[in-house]
Amino acid sequence: MQPLQLPSDAVSQCFVSVSAIPAGFMYLPDREVFEDSLDKDTGRKVPSFSFLVEHGERAKILFDLGTRKHGEGYPPALKETLETFVIDCDRDVVDLLKEGGLEPTDIQFVIYSHLHFDHVGDLNPFSAAQLVLGGDAAECMMSPYPQDPESYFQEFPKGQKVQYLNFSSAETNSIPLGPFHRAIDFFLDGSFYVIDAQGHFPGHLAALARTGPNQFVLLAGDCCHHRLCYNPGERLISSENYDDIHLARETVNHVKAMHEVDNVVVLLSHEKERLDEMPLFPQTLNRWAEEEMETKRVKV
Ligand SMILES: [Zn+2]
Repeated sequence: MQPLQLPSDAVSQCFVSVSAIPAGFMYLPDREVFEDSLDKDTGRKVPSFSFLVEHGERAKILFDLGTRKHGEGYPPALKETLETFVIDCDRDVVDLLKEGGLEPTDIQFVIYSHLHFDHVGDLNPFSAAQLVLGGDAAECMMSPYPQDPESYFQEFPKGQKVQYLNFSSAETNSIPLGPFHRAIDFFLDGSFYVIDAQGHFPGHLAALARTGPNQFVLLAGDCCHHRLCYNPGERLISSENYDDIHLARETVNHVKAMHEVDNVVVLLSHEKERLDEMPLFPQTLNRWAEEEMETKRVKV
């Protein structure tokens, strides 16, 4: 397959480093993952990754925060959901950052792929960070908990800086990126793109990090919940767990297309196999990703 080429390739070879932080684990029922498991009671324990993206001295981003420590502190409306998903989180993203020598206040941006409980973590310690979300997520925060006691979504901390990305606004200057229709060049230097990746949840985002010369890592969030849905793509995503299943299936096809090019490595938020395959924070995964791309080339 032809490598992924971006308009910025000729002018930009600014890189970021990416580190994976397993910020909590949970039980994920197969019926939420695969269409062919809708009537089954099987499932598996999966990590909820937070990804640290470092742009030299310029900025540190966390893409998602994983689960809350011990699964505590969520809005009461999530009680039943949490009984099913059973969070296991002795050390949350803040603990793991600290073990690696970083403080939560070192983070300048927190990007939420979406507002589900297993991605939002606890925002309170990230008091220096601007929160970035997809524009369509705003509707969920119109009346959050505790203002609406029934809401699944916790209000943001007082004084939180929040930016909703509107990909259709002229100011946003969104561009097509590989198979995806709309993305934003976050630092305006081709090193990190935030992608409109709809279907799972309103305003769901993915991100593409340039980890080396024409090498990319796709942080695909919950575009799908198991690698068999994009590699080789033999199992369909479950209609149970996606806000707009048609858009979600189109998005999975984009993820699959990204996986099929040599110079992209796809990482899902709950891709359990990656735990054993890639180095974890405080190591970066750039070198590993390069080797993965090399393996892909050899296979072709
Ligand atoms: Zn998730």
